[in-house]
Amino acid sequence: RIAYVNGQYVAHAQAAVHIEDRGYQFADGVYEVCEIRGGHLVDERRHVERLVRSLGEIRIALPMPLAALKVVLRETIRRNRVRNGFVYLQVTRGVARRDHYFPDPSTPPSLVVTARAVDPAKGEAVAGEGIAVITAPDNRWERVDIKTVGLLPNVLAKQAAKEAGAREAWFVDREGRITEGGSTNAWIVTPEGRLVTRQADNGILRGITRTVMLQVAEQLQLTVEERAFTVAEALAAREAFVTSATNFATPVVRIDGLPIGDGRPGAVARALRENFHSFAEITP
Ligand code: PMP
Repeated sequence: RIAYVNGQYVAHAQAAVHIEDRGYQFADGVYEVCEIRGGHLVDERRHVERLVRSLGEIRIALPMPLAALKVVLRETIRRNRVRNGFVYLQVTRGVARRDHYFPDPSTPPSLVVTARAVDPAKGEAVAGEGIAVITAPDNRWERVDIKTVGLLPNVLAKQAAKEAGAREAWFVDREGRITEGGSTNAWIVTPEGRLVTRQADNGILRGITRTVMLQVAEQLQLTVEERAFTVAEALAAREAFVTSATNFATPVVRIDGLPIGDGRPGAVARALRENFHSFAEITP
């Protein structure tokens, strides 16, 4: 495997950034994960747009012009011969002697890109079964709309899920409403058949998959409500599911050990999953 690290393509096993990288010391950086399908990037434009926004919100300069960045993504995919999988990109505020203040503006941001093949059959099998989720208090900061590498609450919540035999943790705010998953957006279908997902304010990451699925839902003439929903509402839902670039739409069949709907993957999640890639933008 090959990784891109600050201007060079290097063996993945030897790929490294300096110990004084601000990503390492302060989680002072942002990232993106983009699907590769048939050797092509899925929704690259939206992912790059979100990257630019995340960088702007924490005042890190673009590490290189966007056209060059797109070449690096493609070259990393090509060198790893990935047909189906994911590309990971991380930008940090660069390497500087540890000091909370921003480093001198001449300090170049660090850019790392990796690409990994994933067997699509594995995700299909998981989606066919459905996943269990647990709920966990949303103890994150108030700017989770920024896709920062500061993911400690997400790591702890997802590990708690794993130890409880579940795959994802749904964060719950102080009002008892679900915000999103540790690495996914959260959705339910009400008993009346309305599709509900939280409004994309600063309390969730505006998932690219979420945005595309809203378009799919419109095309399927589903009634959509972008609003907060409570744990009680989720437990009483006809179905529940998660979305992300790595999950597309994956049904949730249990929340905190309790079955959702009939305890099997729901029809809305399946329809959204099946139609996702015809609405996503696939670029050469
Ligand atoms: N919320 C969080 C906290 C995430 O980490 C992710 C995945 N990066 C998502 C939602 C889903 O975003 P996307 O659809 O862009 O993958």
